[in-house]
Amino acid sequence: MPGRILIADSVPTSRITMKVMLNAACYDVFMTSSADDVLHNAATKRPDLIIVDTDLGDTGAAGVCHLLKADPTLTHIPVAVVGPDDNEHRLAALRAGAEAYFAKPVDSIELRARVRALLRVAATADELTRREQTAREMGFIETQTPYEPQARVILAANKVDDAVKLRGTLRGLIHADIEVVRRDLLLHAMRTSQETDVIVISSEFDNPNEDMRLLSDIRGYSETRHAAIVALHPDGKKPDALVALDLGANDIMAQCRDPEELALRLRSLIRRKREADRLRDTIDRSLRMASIDPLTGLYNRRYALPYLERLASEAIETKAPFAVMIVDIDKFKSVNDRYGHSVGDAVLVEVARRLRDKLRPQDLVARIGGEEFLIALPATTLGSAQRTAERIRREVCATPATLSDKGQPVTVSISIGLAMCTDMPHCGASVSTLIDIADMALYTSKAEGRNQVTLGKTAA
Ligand code: GH3
Ligand code: MG
Ligand code: MG
Repeated sequence: MPGRILIADSVPTSRITMKVMLNAACYDVFMTSSADDVLHNAATKRPDLIIVDTDLGDTGAAGVCHLLKADPTLTHIPVAVVGPDDNEHRLAALRAGAEAYFAKPVDSIELRARVRALLRVAATADELTRREQTAREMGFIETQTPYEPQARVILAANKVDDAVKLRGTLRGLIHADIEVVRRDLLLHAMRTSQETDVIVISSEFDNPNEDMRLLSDIRGYSETRHAAIVALHPDGKKPDALVALDLGANDIMAQCRDPEELALRLRSLIRRKREADRLRDTIDRSLRMASIDPLTGLYNRRYALPYLERLASEAIETKAPFAVMIVDIDKFKSVNDRYGHSVGDAVLVEVARRLRDKLRPQDLVARIGGEEFLIALPATTLGSAQRTAERIRREVCATPATLSDKGQPVTVSISIGLAMCTDMPHCGASVSTLIDIADMALYTSKAEGRNQVTLGKTAA
């Protein structure tokens, strides 16, 4: 996963040093020496990561970071600041929204480990954004502001007393629900508690294998797969913690650091996690919208046709016959004409419900036209398909589907065309011919007086 990295530094030698370190890892690096150029390059060249030196003219790294984070089109690009090894510069960068801080002299191993972690998260965010944009272009996104529950953080440590103390301090610094758990009980706590945004693991790194296993467990569980992970390490154990970054941790920090630093890192991780959750949610919703008919809640034609193709190829393999029905409401236009469109809609919703209720969970019901439905019955016999068709026909006309505005009962009936696929390859039936056969049979049902089932004749 090579990435495009923009380096902004006013000192040529340090720009070059950084570029050499990153080029060695095959990143595509480009450079700039002024704050204005950073914004321009970020907008035009779309880097995956921006590394800014604290010596960047009057605006400074924190100023550049502020500007980048305030621009909605650039805010998702991770920013790392390079500067002196002191708290003041580090905290200023993190307060401005930077995702990482490299103290000079920059250690190339740390640089590369952190860059890999930042690019990994950025790549996921990019992919989610791309999918969301596609769904938006296809018209499947409804704009709605989702409800944002309070952020949840789990602090896991061997020394619970220290973690409780840290929680006390953090509570004054970030707005989040913070739970302390003993490290060996972390997996259990994650499975039983509600969705966690960030898991902070404080480790002595005495047994790195165990730490690494814990990380892969967290990444493996569906409940915590998307949670951000921070590893807190003793001062001398940074090399071990850097390995944790490659195994799925999003951030690492020395335990001795100022708790405000942890609070700032948590805030940034929570923000990114929430943004990714929001995108994932929108995509799920848009996929549902792409395949579901909003009026009846049934699948739509777009979903039904590929589904039938899959069913047909399975039928060839398993030699289990399946049936297809086309169902059409009789004289539906007159329902609209007599009672109005909204009563017509209520009838559609009720007919859809009755069809769904009278079928097996594995059967497909889709609305493929205004008052036309497609039903697929996998692994069924002719006799059973005919009985099912009769059952749903009776069910629809047995009682009124709805009442009109004046309280009159509105009863409708349906006509059904049934096609049986007993031996797909031999009857030479593609899915579209099968649908044609069911359609012809439906036409016969209509022609012969409606409210009836007709079995279509296969060519074989
Ligand atoms: P037939 O028995 O021959 O099927 O007659 P029909 O009146 O049902 O058939 P026709 O195709 O003439 O009319 C279908 C009607 O369905 C016309 C259209 O206004 C109505 N319709 C289609 N979609 C909707 C919908 O979403 N809501 C409502 N209320 N009516 C719809
Ligand atoms: Mg009709
Ligand atoms: Mg029709």
